[in-house]
Amino acid sequence: MTSEKSETDDPQCPMCPAGTLREGTTTLTMERGEATIVFKDVPADVCDTCGEAFVGENVSEEVYEQAEEAIEAGVQFDVRRYNSRPKTAV
Ligand SMILES: [Zn+2]
Repeated sequence: MTSEKSETDDPQCPMCPAGTLREGTTTLTMERGEATIVFKDVPADVCDTCGEAFVGENVSEEVYEQAEEAIEAGVQFDVRRYNSRPKTAV
């Protein structure tokens, strides 16, 4: 195997050929009926060329759960900062 493509480990952007995904943050808006919960500082892979942000499955699941919780608690609109809760198995 003579592969010399180890220039960078950064994944390529699926939206544009020139873009490279880099670690960054984005803002996610969850809408559920009349409730809107905005999450800022959500960790994501952000393209350095087109600016498209890709949120991982785990993170988006967690955002979704936190939004659900807030909505269940009666929140109609909220802007909050995402913070990942460490999953401690008890
Ligand atoms: Zn891109």
